[in-house]
Amino acid sequence: VAVQDADADRLARRRDDVVAQVQEHYYAQPPRIERGWRHHLIDVDGRAYLDMVNNVAILGHGEPRLAHAVDAQMRRLNTNSRFHYGAIVELSERLASLAPDGLDTVMLVNSGSEAVDLALRIVRAVTGREDVLALTEAYHGWTIGADAVSTSLGDNPRALDTRPSWVHLLDAPNTYRGTHRGDDAHLYLPDALDRIAALDDAGVSLAGFIAEPLFGNGGGIALPDGYLAGVWAAIRARGGLCISDEVQVSYGRLGRHFWGFEQQGAVPDVITVAKAMGNGHPLGAVITSREVADAFAVEGSFFSSAGGSPVSCVVGTAVLDILESDGLQDNARVVGERLANGLRALAGAHPALGAVHGMGLYLGVEVVAGGPDAPDSAGAREICDALLDQGVIVQPTGDHKNVLKIKPPMTIDDAAVDRFLAALDRVLTWREARRAL
Ligand code: PMP
Repeated sequence: VAVQDADADRLARRRDDVVAQVQEHYYAQPPRIERGWRHHLIDVDGRAYLDMVNNVAILGHGEPRLAHAVDAQMRRLNTNSRFHYGAIVELSERLASLAPDGLDTVMLVNSGSEAVDLALRIVRAVTGREDVLALTEAYHGWTIGADAVSTSLGDNPRALDTRPSWVHLLDAPNTYRGTHRGDDAHLYLPDALDRIAALDDAGVSLAGFIAEPLFGNGGGIALPDGYLAGVWAAIRARGGLCISDEVQVSYGRLGRHFWGFEQQGAVPDVITVAKAMGNGHPLGAVITSREVADAFAVEGSFFSSAGGSPVSCVVGTAVLDILESDGLQDNARVVGERLANGLRALAGAHPALGAVHGMGLYLGVEVVAGGPDAPDSAGAREICDALLDQGVIVQPTGDHKNVLKIKPPMTIDDAAVDRFLAALDRVLTWREARRAL
C-alpha cells in the first residue's frame, strides 16, 4: 500500500505540473480510477465505487458490445467525414427517426459545446440576427459561443457580469429557490413574455432562445408546466428559432421521455445532443429541419474532421442499439422511481436534505441549512466526501454547489440504489450524531 501511495503522490504531482489548474477534478484527494464495469468504478487498489454521477456513460462502463463495435470499425476504416460511407447515414437516419416529425436533418460534431455553438451559429445565420436569449442558472458549454449563453454561478461566479452584449437573459424559472415558488411558479411565463416584449420594444430582434428543458445545473428542476411552449411561441411569433439543449437530459434518462422537451409538450426548431450519445466517446449532433439546415448554407459549407467519423457513427448507432435492446429508458423510469422515493424518505428523516428534484435517473437533492434560502454548499461537499469513504461517487451541482447531482449510468439496479440510499442515510445520521455531541 505504501508503494502505491507513493506512486499516487507522484502521479498527482506530475498532473499538477502538466495539467492546467483550471481543469478541476472531482475531490481534493481523488481516487485513482483504473477501470469500470457497468455502474461501478474500480480504483488502482481494487476498491469498487458506485458511480452515481455519470451522465455520460449511460450504458455503464466497460460495455463489451460497444468495445467490439469500436474495435471492428477502427480496424476497417476511420477517416474524416467528407468521404461517403454507410455509418454516417445509419446514425443520422436513426437520430432523425427519434426526433419529432419535421426535425429530420442531422449535423454531427464531437461534443456538447460544439453542438451548442453550431446551433447558435445556425439560428443567427438563418435569421440574419445576432441577439440570443438564454436563462440564468444555465450551463451550455465552453466554446466562446456556448460559454456566452452559460450563466451558472457554480461554474463561473462572474457569469452574470460578463455576458457579451448579444446575450439577453431570462430569470431562471427555479421553482424551489427562485423569484416565484410553489404555487406561484406559473408567474414565470408572464414575466418571460413581458421581458421578450420589452426587448422587442427596445429594438432587439432575437435570433433565438436556448434553454435546457429541465435544469441540469439546478439539479434536475422541472420548468413550470407550459413554460417552454409559451416562451417558444413568443420567440417564433417574432421570427426567432428555439434551441432545446438536450446534451444532458435526453436519451431516455428521464424515464418517461426520450427527449427533455417532451416533458414540456413542446417541439423545438433545433436540438443539441452529445454526452450520452457516445457513452464517453466524443460525439455530438445538431438536429433540425431541412429548411433550417439548408438556410444555414449562407455561411458556406460546414465540416468537422472527426465529427461523424466512421468510428464515431458506429459508436452512436451501437449506443442506441444497446439502449433499446437492454430497455434502459424503462429501467431509468422504474429504478429512478425507487431512487426518488428513497431520497424523499431520507429528506423526510434528515433535516440537511431539502427538496428532491427531477425524474427518472435525472435527480437532484438539495442540501440546505433550514430551507431554500439557506443552500448549504459546505454541507454538500462534506456529504460527498463522506460518501466517497463509503464507496459512492456523488458530486454537488447548482449555482450554490449545494445540490447532490444524482445521474448514474442507466444500467443501475435496485441493489445499487439500495446501497446508495443506505450509505447516504449512514452519512447523514453520523453528521447529526456528531452535531448532537
Ligand atoms: N450543454 C449542457 C446542458 C451540458 O450539460 C454540457 C456539459 N455539461 C454541455 C452543453 C457541454 O458539453 P461538452 O462538455 O460535451 O462540451
